[in-house]
Parts: sequence; C-alpha cells; structure tokens
Amino acid sequence: MDTRVLFISGVGRSGSTLIERTLGTDPRFVVLGEVTHLWERSLQMDELCGCGLPFSECPFWTEVGQRAFGGWDTLDAAQIVATRARLDRVSRTPRLLLGLGGRRYRKDVQRYGALYAQIYRAAAEVNGADVVVDSSKQPSIPYVLTHQDALDVRILHCVRDSRAVAYSWTKTVDRPEAQVESFGTMTRYSPSKLSLVWIAHNVSSLASRLTGQPVTTLRYEDWVRAPRAATADILRACDLEPTPVDAITDTAVTLVTNHTCSGNPLRFRTGEVRIRLDERWREDLPTSSNRLVTAMTLPLLRLFHYVGRQP
Ligand SMILES: [Zn+2]
Repeated sequence: MDTRVLFISGVGRSGSTLIERTLGTDPRFVVLGEVTHLWERSLQMDELCGCGLPFSECPFWTEVGQRAFGGWDTLDAAQIVATRARLDRVSRTPRLLLGLGGRRYRKDVQRYGALYAQIYRAAAEVNGADVVVDSSKQPSIPYVLTHQDALDVRILHCVRDSRAVAYSWTKTVDRPEAQVESFGTMTRYSPSKLSLVWIAHNVSSLASRLTGQPVTTLRYEDWVRAPRAATADILRACDLEPTPVDAITDTAVTLVTNHTCSGNPLRFRTGEVRIRLDERWREDLPTSSNRLVTAMTLPLLRLFHYVGRQP
C-alpha cells in the first residue's frame, strides 16, 4: 500500500509549524518536522528532536532509522547533503517535473527521493499512523517525490501575507536545539531578498499541481480565524474523517510531544498555546520596507486576496 503523505509547502515563518503541531495532536498523523534538514542538522549535527533528546538518542527516530535503512549509520550524510544542494532547488523544479537531465542525474533524483519515501513508510509503521506530515516547505521536494511510485502525496500550500513574513524574517529568533554556536539563531533575510524567496516558493508551490499531486492552498490568516473548520478541511484533503479533534478550540490548541526533527522553536512547546494572529508587522515593519515588499509581491498578494477584493 502506498504511504500517504501530507507535504507542507511554502515559505518558512508562514505559521506552518503551529498547523503541523495541531495535526500532531491527532493520532492519525505522524508529524516529522522538516525532513529536508534531517541530513545536516540531525545526522551530522545531532540537533535536538522535538521530544527534547538529541536525535541519536530519540527512540522514535532510532526505530525509524532501523526500519528504513538498518540504522542511520548506514547512510553517508555528507553525500546526501551534497546531493540535496545540487538538485533539490526551487530553480530546478521545471527540470525535475519533466524528468530531464542525463541518466546519472535522473538516478540521483530517484535515489534522493527514495530516502524520503523510506523514512515516511517507516515513520507511518512505527506510529501506526494513516498520514505522514513533512513540513519541509521546500517546494522542490514534491517534484522529486513525484518520481516515487510508493507514495501518495498531497500538498498543503501554506501562504501568509508577504509583509508579515518579511517582518518575521528580519527578527532574531533563537534556535534552542543548536549544538553549534554558529547555528544558534534562525537565518534572517532582508525584505527584498525575502520578497524574491516568497515569490519563488509560492509560484513553485502553486505550480506543483503540474505533478498531478493534489494541492490545497491555505492562508494562515484563515486558519487562525477558524482553526477547527480549517483543520477539518485539511483532514478531508487527506481522505480522513473530519471528526473534530478535542485538542483544538477556536482560540487555542493543546499540543502534545511530537518527534519533529527540525523546524521553528515552537516545536518544543507542549500544553495550551493560544491561536491568534500576530499583526505586529502593521505597526513595526518600516514604511519603506512595507512599500518595497508590497510592490515586489503585488501580483501574488492580489491572487491570494491580501490586497484588493476580499474573497
Ligand atoms: Zn524524539
């Protein structure tokens, strides 16, 4: 049977961690965090799992590695990191989609995608889950996964207002999981660089429909306004009964421990977390930055109804 996967696509700091963790309160899901960073941050740097243990000591990931590969030490992490840097890029999506490139390139795409497929299958088996959630966001990954026959991938394209995302990327955020000092804060982007990334990732996520994998586009702001109803829509997109999950109300979610391998620091939180929109960017994003981001991302801001006519 194919492994059912919900792949969260889009731009970092678009609220996807809270959405993923909310799904993680439902035992029908196993949420893995950002698998795209597992090779470097978990295998090479042994960063902390969402359960608080170093990756190498987490019983969940140890069992996943054992089932998938006969142990993580059978993998050459440095080689996978190099492969990822070479082919898993947003600029490569047309090539990945069309299966272009020489024989060696196509074989590398196949092998690289198979690593994800093996991890997903093992994780679903270990937790007895129906759906595996990967919140990597890197929109080129679904293009890689489309060449894996044993996967049934559905894409959740998370969108957030570019000005809110730009504001978030200018701020310093600690990474408590870092084992190396230089990795101790999250990457920061200038508003102009963020605008280019925001456009590229959203266009690539919209275009992932071309792979034949179903895509649901969800505005984070809409999820925050009605989290129960919006979460029920995600369940339907995964072919699960949209039975309400007790952990979610319309203002809060009670998080449980999830073995996420990488992602926003929110992945370490458990217990009740209030669901509310962070609108600080409206006051605190400098006017010049606001104008720049608005101008650069305007066509997509219109498409997603952040400016102009409301849906
Ligand atoms: Zn863990």
